[in-house]
Formats: sequence, structure tokens, C-alpha cells
Amino acid sequence: NKCLQKDSDTSSGLVQHGINKKISLFIGDITALEIDAIVNAAKKSLRGGGGALNQIQHSSCCTWITGSRMMKIMFNMVDGAIHRAAGPSLLEECIALGGCNTGDAKITGGYKLPAKYVIHTVGPIGENPESLRSCYLKSLDQLLENKLESVAFPCISTGVYGYPNDKAAEVALKAIKEWLETDDNISKVQCIMFCLFLEKDVKVYEELMQQYFPCT
Ligand code: ADP
Repeated sequence: NKCLQKDSDTSSGLVQHGINKKISLFIGDITALEIDAIVNAAKKSLRGGGGALNQIQHSSCCTWITGSRMMKIMFNMVDGAIHRAAGPSLLEECIALGGCNTGDAKITGGYKLPAKYVIHTVGPIGENPESLRSCYLKSLDQLLENKLESVAFPCISTGVYGYPNDKAAEVALKAIKEWLETDDNISKVQCIMFCLFLEKDVKVYEELMQQYFPCT
């Protein structure tokens, strides 16, 4: 398939779709990306790892998460990975922002990350397409407002927040496609990347990319 180029030597790699070199899939750790901005699937408090842990423990829908399972889930959260890689100054700036509503997005510096900025967006808990769509659109608003041109999104809400992976991917791809087709947005960005961390998301995205961004 000429439309897909994958680095087969490593577990991470870039997959580009021919229709539009501005959209790509990256398979691997978002904290490794040298890009204008990475998006964080943040929690409302914006308090990184610790705050997220408290919120989940106190949330009635998640009381089943206990002990070592909680530790494992925490370790696999993109929020925790971003804060660990950026260092404590990121948390300081996040705290000063005073939280973020579900579906909204706020921007901070990237500190020790190779990315220049982090856009923190709060995904819905469970399936809520309007709210998830809003995360992608508000993040892109932040990108343009700050005159940035490249961004990588993780699979927002599909981890601890439990949004079904295939349905979340559809919302994400539809939102980005429609955004690119609106006004002159396409000329304002260089690269929109979907950062996939789990094998199941790679399968879902590779299939849906053909549908939303087919090869020409
Ligand atoms: P949410 O609470 O919004 O569900 P999570 O952090 O639990 O957020 O999960 C969102 C997605 O981020 C999941 O697909 C998870 O596998 C993925 N993820 C976890 N760590 C990383 C990372 N370092 N880079 C990119 N994606 C990651």
C-alpha cells in the first residue's frame, strides 16, 4: 500500500496517509515527540498524576479500581507520562490555571519535553460524542490562537475514562476532517498527528483512516 509508510524496525513509527500529508499516525510515546504541541488527556483539576488518582478513587464509577490495579492504570495514563517527562514546573503552571472543564482545553509550556507546548483537554467520562468532539476542536483553537502549526493527540478518554476505542476514534477523525474542511484551517497547520499507544487503537485508526482520509 503506497499510502502507508511504516518504520518496521521499531515498535514506534510514523504512518502517513497520502491524501493529505498533514494527517499522520504515530505509534508510540507522545512524550518523545518533537512538535509544537502535544495534547494531554488531562483531568479537571489539571493536577497531574496525584490529582487524577484522588479524583478517580473518589468517583463512584471507579470504586472497583483498587491496589496494584490502580498503580498499573496510573502508570499507563498519558497525563502521568507527560508530567513525569516535563518535570515539576509543568504541574506548577497547571495548578495556576485553576482547573479545566470537560470538553475545554488550556495551554502550558512543555518544560523538559521535546514538545514546545502542552494543550490540556479534559475528555468525558464514558461515551459522550459532543464533549469528546469539543476536546479536539478546543485543542485546535488553542493551537491556532498560539500560532502553532503541529500537534499530536492521544486517544482522549479511551483509557481510564472508558470511552469505547472505535467510537472515540470515529469522533476524533470526523472532528479533525470537518475542522480541516472549515474556512481556511488546512492552510494554517502543518501536521496533525494521532498518537497511538495501544495495538487495538492502531487497528482501529488504520481502518478508519482509509474511510476519513482515503488515498487519492
Ligand atoms: P483518559 O482518562 O482520558 O481515558 P488515559 O491517559 O487513561 O486518559 O488514556 C488515554 C490514552 O492515552 C489511552 O489510549 C492510553 O493507552 C494512552 N497513553 C498512555 N500513555 C501514553 C503515552 N505515553 N503516549 C501516548 N499515549 C499514551
